[in-house]
Amino acid sequence: MLEKPKPEILDQKDAIVKVTLSSIYSSDLHIKHGSVSRAVPGITVGHEMVGIVEQVGTEVNTVSPGDRVAVNVETFCGECFFCKRGYVNNCTDTNGGWALGCRIDGGQAEYVRVPYADRGLNKIPDNVSDEQALLVGDVLATGFWAARISEIKEDDTVLIIGAGPTGLCTLQCVMLNNPEKIIVCEASSERREFVTHHYPSVQVITPGECLDMATALNRGGADVVIEVAGAENTFDLAWKSARPNAIVTVVALYDKPQVLPLPQMYGKNLTFKTGGVDGCDCAEILKLIEAGKIDTTPLITHTFPLSRIAEAYWLFENKGDGVIKVALTAGNS
Ligand SMILES: [Zn+2]
Repeated sequence: MLEKPKPEILDQKDAIVKVTLSSIYSSDLHIKHGSVSRAVPGITVGHEMVGIVEQVGTEVNTVSPGDRVAVNVETFCGECFFCKRGYVNNCTDTNGGWALGCRIDGGQAEYVRVPYADRGLNKIPDNVSDEQALLVGDVLATGFWAARISEIKEDDTVLIIGAGPTGLCTLQCVMLNNPEKIIVCEASSERREFVTHHYPSVQVITPGECLDMATALNRGGADVVIEVAGAENTFDLAWKSARPNAIVTVVALYDKPQVLPLPQMYGKNLTFKTGGVDGCDCAEILKLIEAGKIDTTPLITHTFPLSRIAEAYWLFENKGDGVIKVALTAGNS
C-alpha cells in the first residue's frame, strides 16, 4: 500500500470517482510479472471498479457528482477512425485504449481519475447493486465482446476453453446467443464443478478429453472455439478442436509467444479473431443485468478491504480456497 495524492481533474472531460468496490484482474498479475510491455512502472493497477462520481470537468455531460457508476477499462475519444467503427481498444488518443491501471493510475485505490468520462463511465441502474455491476467494465465486457465477435448461430456448438473469471463471463454471454450446444473445457476440478453447479445445461470436459470430444462432433469439431485460458497448450487445443471453416476467437493474454503452425492448418480454412476487448457495450450489459439476464455475483468468491490487498493478491495468484474473483472494498475494515 502506498499513499499517493488524490487525483485531480486534468482535462475538462475528466471525472474523479470515489471507488467503492474494485477487483483484482489476471492482467494485474501480468503487469506485476512484467509481461505487459506498455504498462508504466509504479502505476496504481486496477481497472475494474464501481464508484460514486465525486467531481466532473466542465465538458462532462452524461454523469454528475453523486452518480453511482461502473468504470470502463477503456478510455476512448469516440471521434477517431477506430472509435467510430467500435474498435475503441485501438482509440488513437494518447489516453486511448487500456490506459487505466496500465498507463495511468487505476482503481485499486480510494479515488481514480477517468479521462473521457462521458464514455468511460456508465450510470448503474438503481436496482443493480455495486457487486452486480463490478465486473461490467472489464471482465464481463470482455465476455460480451468475445461472444459478439464470435458470430454465434443457433445451430452452433460453441467450445469455451478456460473457466476462470473471463471464461465464466464469456459463458454467460454465449448463453444469451442460444447456441445448440455449449462445451466448457477446464483443467481445474473445482472450476468444472462450479460450471456444472451454476450452468447445468453446459457440458464440462477436461483438456485431456477436449480433442477426442471435439473431433467426435458431427462436423468434426466445434463451430466456434473461444480460447480464454491462455495456458501452455490451450492455443493448440483451440485450433485443433475447431471444425473446418470455424471461427477461433482468442481472448487469452499469454505470457509467452504462441506458434501458429500454418502448414498443419492448411486446408482447415480457419478464421482467427484476437483479443483486446472493445469495451463499448457497457450500457447494454448493465441493462441485461437489470433485466436479470446476466448475473456475475457468484463469481465474486472473496471480498477484502483495500488495506488487506496483499493477502487478496496472494489468494488470487495462488488460486487458493476456490477463488474466482476477488473484490476489494474501500476503507480498512
Ligand atoms: Zn478514439
